Amino acid sequence: MAKDKEFAARQSIIDACLRLERQGVNQGAAGNISLRWKDGLLLTPSGMPYDVMTPDDIVFMNMDGSYDHEFAPSSEWRFHRDILHARPDVGAIVHAHPIYCTAFAICGMEIPAAHYMIALAGGPTVRCAPYATYGTAELSELVLEALSGRTCALMANHGMVATGVDLREALWIAVELETLCKQYATALQVGTPKLLDEAEVAKNVEKFKNYGLRRKTRAA
Ligand code: 13P
Ligand code: ZN
Repeated sequence: MAKDKEFAARQSIIDACLRLERQGVNQGAAGNISLRWKDGLLLTPSGMPYDVMTPDDIVFMNMDGSYDHEFAPSSEWRFHRDILHARPDVGAIVHAHPIYCTAFAICGMEIPAAHYMIALAGGPTVRCAPYATYGTAELSELVLEALSGRTCALMANHGMVATGVDLREALWIAVELETLCKQYATALQVGTPKLLDEAEVAKNVEKFKNYGLRRKTRAA
């Protein structure tokens, strides 16, 4: 039974990777996904295309970064581990390089309250973490800072990271963030975006705590 549960958790990570690929949010072996599991985390292996990944390929990592597996864990294991350590409200993390998120990240721009769905981010902006080399502790520190009080962030010259109480929520936020970036990029082309004020965003953040098919909610 316990083994079946772990197999299902591992398979849910692969399903999430494939879903992101189908939705055009990620491709090939770019990006990575983790899930809080027991005293550590389950994490995608480094550099493995999603269409050949099997449940056994998913790496279990302890919170001290140690693991016992034939494959190396994602090169971004540090920020996955560090976010799960620092944020008890987070149960799953999606990192990807979607086109629109990454276009803003290449410009080092944060996303303002152009649409009420920004409330999913937990505040009036989606911050952009400054650039640091992929896989480094420095990048992890900058990503954690950009995520302060937020569910997601852009990463300069790299991509985005989305968190959730579970994998379903992290995926939802990842897809909505890419949609928000696409909408904002389009709005910038057709005119001058009118932004929502902070009070309106705060109202929507509250409403989202009870929105949708949610079994659990984040701590207030
Ligand atoms: P991994 O294949 O090592 O997970 O790296 C992909 C990536 O997106 C690095 O930032
Ligand atoms: Zn990346």
